Amino acid sequence: MSKTVLVTGATGYVAGWLVKKLVEEGHTVHAAVRNPENKKKTQHLDTMAENAKGSIKYFKSDLLEEGSYKEAMQGCEIVFHTASPFSTDVKNPQKDLIEPAEQGTANVLNSAKETSSVKRVVLTSSCAAIYTDAIDCQEAPNRMLTEDLWNTTASLDYQPYSYSKTLAEKKAWEIANSQDRWDLVTINPSLVMGPPLNPKATTSESFNILKQIGDGTFKMGAPKMGIGLVDVREVADAHYKAAFVEEAQGRYITSAHNTNMLEMAKTLLPKYGEQYPIPKSAIKKWVLILFGPLLNKLLSRNFIKKNVNIEWKADNSKIKKELGIKFRPMQETMEDSFQALIDAGIFKK
Ligand code: NAP
Repeated sequence: MSKTVLVTGATGYVAGWLVKKLVEEGHTVHAAVRNPENKKKTQHLDTMAENAKGSIKYFKSDLLEEGSYKEAMQGCEIVFHTASPFSTDVKNPQKDLIEPAEQGTANVLNSAKETSSVKRVVLTSSCAAIYTDAIDCQEAPNRMLTEDLWNTTASLDYQPYSYSKTLAEKKAWEIANSQDRWDLVTINPSLVMGPPLNPKATTSESFNILKQIGDGTFKMGAPKMGIGLVDVREVADAHYKAAFVEEAQGRYITSAHNTNMLEMAKTLLPKYGEQYPIPKSAIKKWVLILFGPLLNKLLSRNFIKKNVNIEWKADNSKIKKELGIKFRPMQETMEDSFQALIDAGIFKK
């Protein structure tokens, strides 16, 4: 049955695939965006809605303006709250990350409390709300991240993006538990890869990482940094099922592969290795500790110590069992992502 749903941050990389799925299935999407007039950020959504069964209606909303999502939420049974800045390069973490994430979540969910049509809220959280560094996996029970764990090590000064996602998800549970008309389900993806629907205007940090794999940044070798990876198409599917599978409940780790940066890069070698400077080997940890901070301010010595040559592992059994999510192979995700950036002219050979 077709429903009216709200998607906050509909211009985003993850949200794009979710909106696509929703309109293809015949739903009416209230797309809350900062600037509905900015065609560069919305044209791809309009194009894909042209021949779909469902439709899109735009609303102007900002996470930092109280009550800004009220109008967009009217008549919606489901609220997908995806909007939140995903950047690791910010000047003022409090203003640029924490406030839009935490206050923005409060803003959206408090409006859901006042909107009688809302029955479920699906929040795009992150594995970043569960852990900060790969070393946290080593310290977890059975050396594996699960939905029972919370990030306790990120702060305003260290990995503030992870801190913002932790505070935002905690705020969401607090508000959800203060009422009983709607339930909250959270999707907690690891690093999302896969083709962007709007490659030229994407702001997601996912692409800075992918670009660095192909632009020669790591031609001396890739850091063997433990990380989880998931395809954007499965993340969209996870949001969709979290909304429409009635029994969906709680948090869902949405991560397909326990991997590392070198392994991710290596999947690209067979198809692209001759044309692009994709790293073939690992950069030594001691070299990174010496020179990493000079290459990139995010590669602090503390970060390198806690992430490089350390295995990352998460348990994805809950989402497979309860929501029936099937994950595609990493090679397909990486090749599709890389090809999308090549086609958009983002890599220079
Ligand atoms: P993205 O493409 O940069 O999307 C971020 C979205 O948030 C954009 O639509 C952006 O709107 C919106 N936004 C930012 N600040 C806002 C504000 N003040 N008011 C209203 N909207 C605002 O990044 P993404 O990767 O798709 O991220 C989407 C969600 O997935 C985020 O919650 C992120 O934390 C989560 N996530 C991402 C990953 C990943 O690897 N990509 C992994 C785990 C979780 P504008 O277009 O107007 O800027």
